[in-house]
Amino acid sequence: MNGAGSALLSEAQGPRDIRYVRTLRISVTDHCNYRCLYCMPEEGMHWLPKAEILTYEEMREVARAALSHGIRDFKLTGGEPLLRHDLTTLVAMLRGLDGCGEISLTTNGHLLAENATRLRTAGVDRVTVSLDTLDPDRFREVTRRGDLARVLDGMAAAEACGLGPVKVNVVVMKSLNLDEVAAIAAHTLDNRRTVRFIEFMPLGRSLLRDADQFVPYDEIRRRIETALGPLEPASHDAGSGPARVFRLSGAAGKIGFIHAMSAPFCSTCNRLRLTPDGQLRSCLFDGGEIDVRPFVRPTLDAAGLHQAFLDCVVLKPDAHQHYGNRQMSQIGG
Ligand code: SAM
Ligand code: SF4
Repeated sequence: MNGAGSALLSEAQGPRDIRYVRTLRISVTDHCNYRCLYCMPEEGMHWLPKAEILTYEEMREVARAALSHGIRDFKLTGGEPLLRHDLTTLVAMLRGLDGCGEISLTTNGHLLAENATRLRTAGVDRVTVSLDTLDPDRFREVTRRGDLARVLDGMAAAEACGLGPVKVNVVVMKSLNLDEVAAIAAHTLDNRRTVRFIEFMPLGRSLLRDADQFVPYDEIRRRIETALGPLEPASHDAGSGPARVFRLSGAAGKIGFIHAMSAPFCSTCNRLRLTPDGQLRSCLFDGGEIDVRPFVRPTLDAAGLHQAFLDCVVLKPDAHQHYGNRQMSQIGG
């Protein structure tokens, strides 16, 4: 373990490649109640058999091993994490681990209003909600079955019980919401939320034709600055990972950009991912997976699990070159 206490150090690759891993993203399910155009097809998804999905107890053991390496923060994601039965049980288990830092949740917000208080009580610190448009009809078009009013209620409920300010993830697509980015960004003027604009990533079987829909970071930024004035550099929020963060002059909230495509940030990426079926991944796109299920079932092999983290960090690429064939929802975006 490192002296700093909050990082897994991979010295195997030499000084240039030392990586500080601070966050483990735990994808608790591959299921979802939405079918976002950029994330999964309407029909024909192959869901993981239930027996292959890690139990909460197994996830807790992986988290315990992460903590033994100084990885203190956990982000619960999916698929849609609020579809997993009684997610608060896992939250409470993580909160009970010695040294556990921030616990956050990334959700589509559909089930957030009714769950927010329980999540907060169990130990979640903050939530990120995906919201690509503020137009109800467009929202339904992008998500194929979403309900904008429910998501907005969910965000308000989360903030009312102390899970805010909410971070908002916006995947930018040329024909669906590029014309809205300035209006969405303007919400940060009098609102403490951080809005993060994400470049569309060509993962798995997205239904978007990449060349048609991809909008690079500089085009998104130009639109915002033309309408609202220059962006000033701002401090990172806790757990904001590789987003580049700015603020409009005098604004209450912040604006982030996640430009994994036009300006990859592999060398500063500080997270590992655990898929619902127990694959430890060093990169969303690339770098391979380590199957940790044999270390948690049928019985715990703590030494094997500990080593799996070391092996995984060595797999972390300097730059991603492949996009794999898993959907974002299967990895845990
Ligand atoms: N269902 C939850 C949600 O939508 O927030 C959590 C999982 S979702 C896979 C996590 C994030 O990945 C969301 O903010 C979503 O917009 C983003 N995402 C999914 N597919 C993407 C893609 N192809 N390119 C960029 N972002 C994507
Ligand atoms: Fe579901 Fe999230 Fe993927 Fe949308 S982005 S389909 S809400 S997992």
